Amino acid sequence: MEVLHHPNPVLKSHAADVDPSADGSLRDLVRAMAETMYEENGIGLAAPQVGVDKRVIVFDVDDKLAALCNPVIVEASDDTEVDDEGCLSVPGITVPVARSVRVVCKGQTIEGREITIEAADLLARVLQHEIDHLDGVLILDRAPAEVRSSIIRAYHEANRL
Ligand SMILES: [Zn+2]
Repeated sequence: MEVLHHPNPVLKSHAADVDPSADGSLRDLVRAMAETMYEENGIGLAAPQVGVDKRVIVFDVDDKLAALCNPVIVEASDDTEVDDEGCLSVPGITVPVARSVRVVCKGQTIEGREITIEAADLLARVLQHEIDHLDGVLILDRAPAEVRSSIIRAYHEANRL
């Protein structure tokens, strides 16, 4: 699959909920997304990044591939940490983004089973980043105001826009 890059408008849209019990395409979608994520050396990928309007994410932190449908953050720690994040859809730059250190995330497997993930540190960051994609939010939108314009300039230079 081809990864869309900013400023593709698809990346700014709100993705549609999926119904795992009725959507027979999810297994193939997740397999293709995982393949793309590994090819691009990513640790997470959201369906809108490959032009698919579905609330589906894949991620692999600590050599464990997982997929989640309709993921929602139901609890987020007040405790936040700033770290540099990259994004396959925003190539060539990193952005310092503040994220909750711990989150609780609910969603469904592609078989429709409800699951709850308690995540900390990198996994918590990846989940917040990928769920942002489902709402049309990119790391550029999360950049601190005082560095946003220089980051956008660097992105344009890196990608000759
Ligand atoms: Zn991303």
